[in-house]
Formats: sequence, C-alpha cells, structure tokens
Amino acid sequence: MSAVVIPLSRPDLSEIEEREVLGVLRTSWLSQGPRVQEFEARMAAFLGIRHAIAVSSGTAGLHLALRSAGIAAGSHVITTPFSFVATANVMLYEGAYPVFVDIDPLTLNLTPERVKAVMARDYVMQEGRWRHRESGAVLSAVLPVSIFGHPVAMDGFRTLADTNCLRLILDACESLGSLYWSEHLGEWISEAQLADAAVLAFYPNKQLTTGEGGMIVTNDDDIDRYCRMGRNQGRGEKSSSLDAEMLGFNYRMDELSAALGVGQMRRIQDLLTRRQQVAAWYEEALGAVEEIERPVAAPWAQVCWFVYVVRVRHGVNRDGVIASLGQRGIESRAYFPAIHLQPHFAALGYRPGMFPVTEDFAHRAIALPFFTQMTKAQVSEVVGAVRSAVSAHVAV
Ligand SMILES: *Cc1c(COP(=O)(O)O)cnc(C)c1O
Repeated sequence: MSAVVIPLSRPDLSEIEEREVLGVLRTSWLSQGPRVQEFEARMAAFLGIRHAIAVSSGTAGLHLALRSAGIAAGSHVITTPFSFVATANVMLYEGAYPVFVDIDPLTLNLTPERVKAVMARDYVMQEGRWRHRESGAVLSAVLPVSIFGHPVAMDGFRTLADTNCLRLILDACESLGSLYWSEHLGEWISEAQLADAAVLAFYPNKQLTTGEGGMIVTNDDDIDRYCRMGRNQGRGEKSSSLDAEMLGFNYRMDELSAALGVGQMRRIQDLLTRRQQVAAWYEEALGAVEEIERPVAAPWAQVCWFVYVVRVRHGVNRDGVIASLGQRGIESRAYFPAIHLQPHFAALGYRPGMFPVTEDFAHRAIALPFFTQMTKAQVSEVVGAVRSAVSAHVAV
C-alpha cells in the first residue's frame, strides 16, 4: 500500500471545537457537568425530540436502548444483516436472539413488508404476542438501521410495532441530518421521531464527532429515565447518594467529548451541507462510469450520506478495484461485510445464501473517500482512478 493521498474519511474540526474543549480543560469539571447537558439540549432541539441522553459510544446507546425496551433473555429481535456488527452484538449482550431479515435492494434497509412476511411465516399470535412457531420464543422488538444515512420507512414500522405489540428501536448511528417524509405527519422529519428510542453515534467518521460517543433520543419519559440511570450505574440522575435503583453501567460521556460535540453542533448545518455537496460531485462524476452503480435515495428520503458506497457491476472484481485504488494512495473499503456470516453469528446457525440481497451487495460494495473537506478535484481524482481500476478488473 502506498502513502495515503486521499483518506477514506477525516473529521472536520475547527477553532470553534478547539475553544470549546479548551474551555473544559480550564475548569476542573470533567464529567457530569454542564457541557453534556448543553450537547443533549442542542441535539434534542435539532432533531425535534424531547429527550437526548449522551453516552460513551453508539454501541453503549444501542445496548441501553435495547434494555430500556425490556427485551428479556431468549426473546427475538428482528434486525438487518447489512449493518455494522454492533447493531446485532447488543442483542447477544442481553441473551436476545437476532432474527435477520434481508434488505430492500434500493434503500439497503429493512422494510415493514419484508418483516411482516417473515412474521407471518415463522411466528404465530398467541395471547397478544407473536411467538416463534418452533421454539415458542416471544418476538419482542424490531430494530431497523438507516444504513449509510438512508432513512427507513418509519411510518410503516411505527404501525407495525403499534399493531403487533413490538418495541421499535432505531439504529440511527449513520443518519444524522437525513430527513424522512412522514405520510402520517405530512412533513419532513428526522425519522428518529417515530421510534420508541433511536440511537446516534459520534465516532470520528460520522457526520458529527465527539471522538467516541453516542446519544439515545426519545419522546418517552420512561425510556429517558431508564437510560439516564442506566448510563450512571443505575443511580438517579439528581441523587448525590451512591445507592443504585437498578443494574446500570458506566456509559457516561465526559465533558471534553461533549464540548467537542457542542462545537460541532454550532457548525452542524455547514457540516451537513458540505457532505451533500461532496455527494453531489460524486453523483455527477460517476454518472459516466458504466461499471459502477451509485447509491440512490427513495422519493421520501433526503439523504445526508454517512459514507459514499458504490457497487461494482456483476463481473467486476471488487477486491481488485480496492487494491488498485490503494496503489494510487486512495483509501477505499469493502463496506459492510454481512453480519450473519461473522463467526459469532454463524455459530447461531446462520449460513451463506440465507440473505441473498445482503450478500450480493456485501460482495460488490466499495466505500469511497468521503468527508466534508473533500474538494471537487479530489472527487475527480478518485473517480478517474475508479474508472481505470474497474476497466482493469472486468472479467472478460
Ligand atoms: C457507528 C455505528 C454504530 C455505533 O458505533 P460506536 O463505534 O459504538 O459509536 C452502531 N451502528 C451503526 C450502524 C454504526 O454505523
């Protein structure tokens, strides 16, 4: 691999963030202070959601959100095999069983229709709960993921959850800034508004970063209370006592990370607009590259891409393309490998061939360099390199 000329991703940090973080260093208040509260308040206002609970990572947020929904050990949770592995890992933390359902080839997300079909095939309704036909396990929740930033069809999922006694947790770790047209509400909203709880993540490659960090957002007062206690060893938020009211974790976000988040929130519109611009440059330049399929958005989605993932047409050697780009110093990556084929999920009985749409995409996907400060010239350079790489790796 040659020296990196164009990285896959790069956080966008300015003097604004420097000042915010420095401000914390000059106090002696490094945890459970005002910056976490400010970051939460800004995010809640931005998304139009009542509560926001900052945590130490997106994974921690998913774990708490799942626990807040009361998912019992042994129960089933429907999710997508095409995501970052953390989505399904948190189910294993709780002894719940991830039931994968294949994705829609356009949005790469779960759809209510696909989920309903699996419920009708594998579950029966007994005393108000769906139970697995063979094991009798209760189906307790559905956990869709807005992959790469493309919103999921939340109106349909909301109805599905409400009419089938299911909790609805949304993994929105990749979709900050994306908008969803809600038929129910008749307006563009953050799809997170329609979940029981949704989770954001702030790793350095996300739309907004705090270094490490995440946030649970919810309109439900009980979930809010549960998550605030859960992140703080089960202790009441305001109580100065060390008594725990329940089993909790140390999933707190520190003040330095929160200050970084506040700085990023001050520039959020700019950060999101730049992402849109880079995606638009790619869209235009890749139009002429025949062997590449570009990402598309459903008419009801305004996507703020988290990563820019294209797929090579059948017959092009994807890994060869990634290697050729690497030789020119252009980072790219296979994104994502299917979750059900990772060893700890395969051990549950999942096999190749079970989710053909996911597996086909996982074999052909390439994440290209994508970050706010990317220039039009860099996009052209990447696209030029992609063009020659794909033609060198077409099967003849
Ligand atoms: C980033 C991400 C997470 C959480 O990641 P952390 O590294 O724990 O912050 C979860 N799900 C998806 C889909 C993600 O992209």
